Amino acid sequence: MTKKRLLWRLYPSVLALILAALFGVTWYAAAVVTRFFHERTGHELEMRARLVGQHVQGIRGTEDPAALDALCKRMGRAAETRITVVLPNGRVLADSEANPAGMENHADRPEIEDALSRGHGAAVRPSPTLAIPMMYFALRIHDVSGQTLVVRTAASLTQAEHVARGLKIRIATAGLVIAALLAAITYAVSRGISRPIEEVRAGVERIAAGDLGHRLHVPDTAELSRLAEAINEMTARLDERLRLITAQRNEQEAVFAGMVEGVVAIDRQEHILRINRAAAEILGVAPETARGKAIAEVVRNLDLQRFVSEALGTTQSVEGEIRLRGAQERWLQAHGAPLLDAGGRAVGAVIVLNDITRLRQLEGFRRDFVANVSHELRTPVTSIKGFVETLLDGAARDPQAAENFLKIVARQVNRLEAIINDLLMLAGLEQQGRVGIEVAETSLREPLQAAADLLAHKAAGKKVEIRVECPPELTACVNAPLIEQAAANLLDNAVKFSEAGRTVRLTATREHDSVAISVRDEGTGIAPEHLPRVFERFYRVDKGRSRDMGGTGLGLAIVKHIALVHGGGVGVSSAPGQGSVFTLTLPLAGPRRAG
Ligand code: ADP
Repeated sequence: MTKKRLLWRLYPSVLALILAALFGVTWYAAAVVTRFFHERTGHELEMRARLVGQHVQGIRGTEDPAALDALCKRMGRAAETRITVVLPNGRVLADSEANPAGMENHADRPEIEDALSRGHGAAVRPSPTLAIPMMYFALRIHDVSGQTLVVRTAASLTQAEHVARGLKIRIATAGLVIAALLAAITYAVSRGISRPIEEVRAGVERIAAGDLGHRLHVPDTAELSRLAEAINEMTARLDERLRLITAQRNEQEAVFAGMVEGVVAIDRQEHILRINRAAAEILGVAPETARGKAIAEVVRNLDLQRFVSEALGTTQSVEGEIRLRGAQERWLQAHGAPLLDAGGRAVGAVIVLNDITRLRQLEGFRRDFVANVSHELRTPVTSIKGFVETLLDGAARDPQAAENFLKIVARQVNRLEAIINDLLMLAGLEQQGRVGIEVAETSLREPLQAAADLLAHKAAGKKVEIRVECPPELTACVNAPLIEQAAANLLDNAVKFSEAGRTVRLTATREHDSVAISVRDEGTGIAPEHLPRVFERFYRVDKGRSRDMGGTGLGLAIVKHIALVHGGGVGVSSAPGQGSVFTLTLPLAGPRRAG
């Protein structure tokens, strides 16, 4: 609905009021003027009638009507008044303006009737001849002969009418001028009122549109200035509160987004209300598209659906585990709690997800490790037990057999010792990995040569040549005994898997900000399917052969750990029948220390 402007609300009513007042005044003024004229004319007519009566009394009018008529005509001209003399029977005896003989009987004229009965009479009516309003005054007299006569004077009232009409016209003109003036004044006043209102409205609209920094100009009008001040104050409070809420929300948002735990809020219909980045990553969904959708639609997982239903179905917090199947199986620990609204009613649930895959893997590794260690230890222990029992059963009586058995027992004991030493070594490295190893700027050639020297005897026995190629100036921040151990393990394997006449090369080269220590052999090589696992504990390509060669299956695992505690890594490339290259990469500057 279109609303009227203030001007159009004010103007008509004010105009109507003014016009009504104007009409009232006009009517009253006209009435007063008319009455005044009537009174004055009436009074004058009476005076003239009495004056004329004096003269008429003196002559015998009935006997000499001509003389009376001449008198009337004379006096009528002098007094600018029509004078008529009438007999009681109504017959006109004389008239100042007409021939009395031609005039009609005047007996029915009310003023004549009144004069005859009461002595005088007055009337106002349009004259039958001129059709203009006339006032008549009639007076009863007796002339010298005792004849009763009625002297009537008459005057036109046109002047009174004229003055009243002129007054009305003037007042009407004034009314029009006033209406026009009023329109201008009303317009100015309404503009004066509405402009500040318009300004306040525009300002409020700007604030409503979100510009909370805007402040209204305070108008001069007391009422409006109070309104503007109140709005300004309200806006300032709103701004402050909004800032506070925004800051709190941003804080919450940052906490929510930065949480390592995945958090998903769902409503009672299982639609996602909020989901943080961690949860989106864990569940493999895009947070923008997931919002508002049913959780079952976004993540197809029976465990999760069951958990969500359980969390929504209770007012307690619930816990559970969810297995996510996919290219990589993942385990989540889920914690669900009811989501309450301001009134304390449950409107959904909040689910916190923790990825415990790594924990599960570690548990698995530990379990496998314990099984592997037990298995590795059991073989020599079973063997020792068997030979010892055989010896106790009497084999010791045969010195040759006893010596053979004892040699086997000694070998198994050595093996046990080797396994235990390697395990202790690994445990030590893991411990050092946590607290940090001691490193020093070392020329790499020394530990590498020491490793080669350690294996020289074994290599010579197999007719394998070990060559060390390391620039004497090449230094790195390392723990020398560990580097020697790693090189020795790699050389031991290389010699073990090389045939007579082959060469094993131990080289160290500098690359950008690291050094690469590699052991290259021309031995049996490793099939590609085994390559990813050779650094695992107790992993062997050929179990029987490795054991026969005295391997514990822990050598490469130790090498890998030595690389890790230095902040480096290991790698292998190999082809069956062509040999292998094991590489240890270490940062030149040594391991980076936490903190
Ligand atoms: P082991 O004590 O059995 O040698 P390692 O951890 O040192 O254990 O090695 C794991 C397995 O990797 C070995 O059993 C072997 O099959 C393979 N391997 C290691 N080094 C070589 C090599 N230079 N050439 C061929 N195979 C190797």
